[in-house]
Amino acid sequence: AEEELAKAGWLLNVQLLTFGEKIGEGEFGDVLKGSYMGQPVAIKNIKCDVTAKNFLAETTTMTQLKHKNLVNLLGVVLNNGLYLVMELMSKGNLVNYLRSRGRSSVLPWQLLQFSLNIAQGMEYLEEKRLVHRDLAARNILVSENDEAKISDFGLSKSKLLPEDVTKLPIKWTAPEALQHNKFSSRSDVWSFGILLWEIFSYGRTPYPKMSVRDVAEKVQNGYRMDAPENCQPVLYTLMKSCWEDDPGKRPSFKKLREKLEKIKTA
Ligand code: ADP
Repeated sequence: AEEELAKAGWLLNVQLLTFGEKIGEGEFGDVLKGSYMGQPVAIKNIKCDVTAKNFLAETTTMTQLKHKNLVNLLGVVLNNGLYLVMELMSKGNLVNYLRSRGRSSVLPWQLLQFSLNIAQGMEYLEEKRLVHRDLAARNILVSENDEAKISDFGLSKSKLLPEDVTKLPIKWTAPEALQHNKFSSRSDVWSFGILLWEIFSYGRTPYPKMSVRDVAEKVQNGYRMDAPENCQPVLYTLMKSCWEDDPGKRPSFKKLREKLEKIKTA
């Protein structure tokens, strides 16, 4: 399997990889800063039973995914487990970015720029017919020059890791996905609406003060979040369009990207 990975061009030379300080903690292990052939990288240790063969099955799609708003995977290292080597997103995840900086330092145009970045990345996944399933501000990373990119596509959602229904991110997941396991680009659009709400509320947790249990039930009965404080009505309208009960009535990511561009230039 290792040979196959090498042949596919995904196997990196461990000698050229240097490990630095810990910068994050993932579900399956730590995330470290590092460098590969002089390029700053992030290294994610996957501490679960992933075989190279399993991984290879997934790389077929992953090799074909490259977009400026998707966190780029450089390759893998097999060494007591699996290490994913990715481009370094030095400003960390979007939730922490927004919470730590706040309204006084992040201006509304920057929030709109982040939203547009994410819509562009999602439009690309939509074209590729790839469903993310876990779109949320915690899975958006920010680069040194303040560009937002989508991470965690293709791995946590793949067949690599078993689907555990009890672990679904309830507050981000569309009703039809929660109830009937119907995941689609349009259920990603629902999550994108929640993500917009997170962005324009500067990293607040959605449905503040509501328990996860309450949310599932209330949303099913038509309840929707209020607009974030100081949010432009046109943006709140856009969020609500993502939260249409009927997935077919929600906009596509292409449409969302177009609308965000219009709002940005208005
Ligand atoms: P998991 O999906 O396994 O929970 P994440 O991919 O969310 O793990 O990573 C956990 C944290 O590590 C992120 O919130 C972020 O702060 C940091 N991190 C992950 N990938 C990168 C990266 N490419 N560059 C910089 N930081 C990263």
